[in-house]
Amino acid sequence: MARTAKLPNLADYSLLHTSFSWKTEFGNLDGLPHGGGINIAYEAVDRHAESKKSDLVALRWIRKDGSVEDFSYKSLKKLTARFANLLSQLGIARGETVFTLTGRIPELYITALGTLKSGAVYCPLFSVFGPEPIYQRLHIGGAVLLVTTRDLYEKKLKPQLDRLPSLRYILLTDVPGHIDRRVLSLSQLMREAPDEFIIAPTDPETPALLHFTSGTTGMPKGALHVHGAVLMHYTTGRYVLDFHPGDVFWCTADPGWVTGTSYGIIAPLVNGITNIIDEEEFDALRWYELLEAQKVNIWYTAPTAIRRLMRVSLNPTEKFNLEHLRMICSVGEPLPADAVLWGEKMFGKPILDNWWQTETGGIMIANFISMKVKPGSMGKPLPGITAGIADITETDIRIIEEPGKKGQLVIKKGWPSMFRTYIHEQARYDKCFRGEWYLTGDMASIDEEGYFWFAGRADDIIKTSGHMVGPFEVESVLLGHPAVAEAAVIGKPDPLIGELVKAFIVVKDGHAGSRELQMDIIAFARKKLGAAVAPKELSFITALPKTKSGKILRRLLKARELGLPEGDLSTLEQT
Ligand code: ATP
Ligand code: MG
Repeated sequence: MARTAKLPNLADYSLLHTSFSWKTEFGNLDGLPHGGGINIAYEAVDRHAESKKSDLVALRWIRKDGSVEDFSYKSLKKLTARFANLLSQLGIARGETVFTLTGRIPELYITALGTLKSGAVYCPLFSVFGPEPIYQRLHIGGAVLLVTTRDLYEKKLKPQLDRLPSLRYILLTDVPGHIDRRVLSLSQLMREAPDEFIIAPTDPETPALLHFTSGTTGMPKGALHVHGAVLMHYTTGRYVLDFHPGDVFWCTADPGWVTGTSYGIIAPLVNGITNIIDEEEFDALRWYELLEAQKVNIWYTAPTAIRRLMRVSLNPTEKFNLEHLRMICSVGEPLPADAVLWGEKMFGKPILDNWWQTETGGIMIANFISMKVKPGSMGKPLPGITAGIADITETDIRIIEEPGKKGQLVIKKGWPSMFRTYIHEQARYDKCFRGEWYLTGDMASIDEEGYFWFAGRADDIIKTSGHMVGPFEVESVLLGHPAVAEAAVIGKPDPLIGELVKAFIVVKDGHAGSRELQMDIIAFARKKLGAAVAPKELSFITALPKTKSGKILRRLLKARELGLPEGDLSTLEQT
């Protein structure tokens, strides 16, 4: 049976429209125990715990050693109630911010959902951040409570506690008893807290989630989202990720950034399916084994992981039984056509790219299962989402109607998961809007059939001999060369042509970065792109600098190339 879904018109549901109706999708909220309103944790956990799904596995946690622990919706309801109660007992008020700094362990998920139940704001941190980025985010986010492990506490936090006077409590996940008045044992508090919690009526505009952006273009910004965002988590889960009752879903994103929360926690639970959590980091064999053993139906991952899988010479379907795998989706960076086609060859289905940002809170543009996939394209906007391509000046905006012409990707404001501010940076937030449009900072074009094509970030666009060159179009071609494993291009100032295109290449195993290969790759690119757009310079590099969420830091390649200051590197992955 074809699994195509009838797409809803999100505008009909939008919180900003009077026709918005939760009753249609979620039943009558008025009589519910939390007293009405919309609370993410209620929709994600308690609603199912009070239904036929109460014994269904909500979270399946796979430890590093491969052993498995299941949490049903019913048990998750109790655990998150305990956490919400312990927050109240510690005097954490609605609107105050609770952080986690842990790997993928159950305590993170319980903290996130328990915090949302209590009406406080939840903010995740990458456990691999160093002490300074951790301090900055706790400070900017006004953290009052942090859940972490003893090791992370000792190594990354203890030395700077004096700088964080408003951080009232640190709860350690792995100590049996309290350490002092500020550093407490999470397990002891959980044991002592009641497992019933009545969620207070939650206005949809109540702040819920604080997410810091990836810091690809500079200092990360703290984007604040509200409880009403759950509508987007629900609909995108259902209509883009194609969640159906009984599905098993696995999102590989680290919970330290927005995908790890919107889709690694909320979307699958709101849709009442089983969510897999793997404690371990990337490992190609382990990943394929997990897909097989857990009978994963929908797999949500990222281009950086897909490229790593592509480098492993292994045909997964020959070695593993992946017959349950129905959908593979990707987000975080542009997904080049060669990766889409690799997916088709390896899994018998294309990898479906979709586009969104921390600021949008949920998927905005996608290749839906129900439509023709164009490899290399981001797909089409979700129903109810109006996206366009625009020429932007300091004060003005002009929507470009011409197909194929590049401009800034803009989205009409008003979708439920739209960020409501950059914390402490209202002026920066206001600058993201021009009239009714939100400016994404990304450059793209639309083709005749309404598909969107990513060109690059506005900051990374290269202006060469009167052309506007998007790094992604050049990189996609370079990746088609048989010796190229990874590629990044930048614009380098040039007195004659404005900027010249310079490429950085990581070669595949078994190839050496020789002068001949350099010339060969440049010639290959020229043939495909023409001399004006193809790289004029090319350097080999052992690894591309990336953020911890796997995004290429082109600004760092450029700064190093030009001998300029390297800027904020708090999210740089150390390789
Ligand atoms: P910062 O805003 O701090 O510079 P960031 O923009 O990388 O960091 P995120 O919000 O995590 O932070 O990432 C969103 C960005 O990632 C998008 O604006 C876009 O540039 C890129 N991106 C995400 N998905 C896709 C995709 N499918 N195709 C192309 N680009 C994508
Ligand atoms: Mg951004």
